[in-house]
Amino acid sequence: SEGLQVRDAVVRYDGPRRAPGTTAVDRVTLDVPVGEILALLGPSGCGKSSLLRAVAGLEALAGGTVSFDGQDLAAVPVHRRGFGLLFQDGQLFPHRDVEGNVGYGLQMQGVARAERRERVTGLLEDVGLAGYAHRAVATLSGGEKQRVALARALAPDPRLLLLDEPLSALDRQLREKLALDVRDTLKRAGTTSVFVTHDHSEAFTVADRVAVMDAGRLLQVDTPERLRERP
Ligand code: ADP
Ligand code: ADP
Repeated sequence: SEGLQVRDAVVRYDGPRRAPGTTAVDRVTLDVPVGEILALLGPSGCGKSSLLRAVAGLEALAGGTVSFDGQDLAAVPVHRRGFGLLFQDGQLFPHRDVEGNVGYGLQMQGVARAERRERVTGLLEDVGLAGYAHRAVATLSGGEKQRVALARALAPDPRLLLLDEPLSALDRQLREKLALDVRDTLKRAGTTSVFVTHDHSEAFTVADRVAVMDAGRLLQVDTPERLRERP
């Protein structure tokens, strides 16, 4: 089958000495078909980040499997998974301009400068930042920085994009507008995505389906429309 498959995933953290550890993710099973945006929604501490990091390969599984297009990823290191990552603080390179940030992954792949330029120009248009190529990162607003971070994450054309609370550091009004723009951008690019958030309205705006988590367990997965009918 195509896309992301998570089967009975468990993530545990050891406690100090003999103290009991934490089961952050408790037997979660989840599919994200190609082209879908799935929101992972739940209160702080329910295990969303742990699950996302396990999918990325940044956290080891204590049980279960993560696979993509039918391939078990257990032995595939983070940088070989072909996934893109975007965090709350986009962590742009402060000493590169916007173009240098967005083109970074392409440069690492050995893509020639002229082709890089063209691709970066297109990506900046996609995220609403046409004409920003030579702006210094320090002169950008918080929202503009996250738009650049999104363009940078999309540049290498990841087969799966993992977004961990990418809008949480922004103020509410900006978040609503950006959630819509992020959805449009991801849909246009056709990028399979998992979007972690604790914010209901953000999840319902951005996602094709919403996976509701609590205390490490997956409670339900459904479209925003059906979740609104019977919450
Ligand atoms: P969320 O992303 O939903 O806020 P997390 O996945 O960050 O949830 O955390 C789930 C649980 O795992 C919480 O109880 C948290 O305290 C714990 N946890 C997360 N990361 C670690 C860690 N590195 N070491 C120990 N416990 C952790
Ligand atoms: P978020 O919920 O936004 O993912 P947190 O503030 O819970 O972030 O966690 C920030 C960092 O601290 C993460 O790297 C996480 O792994 C780590 N962390 C979270 N909870 C614990 C914990 N109980 N013990 C140790 N590290 C933790």
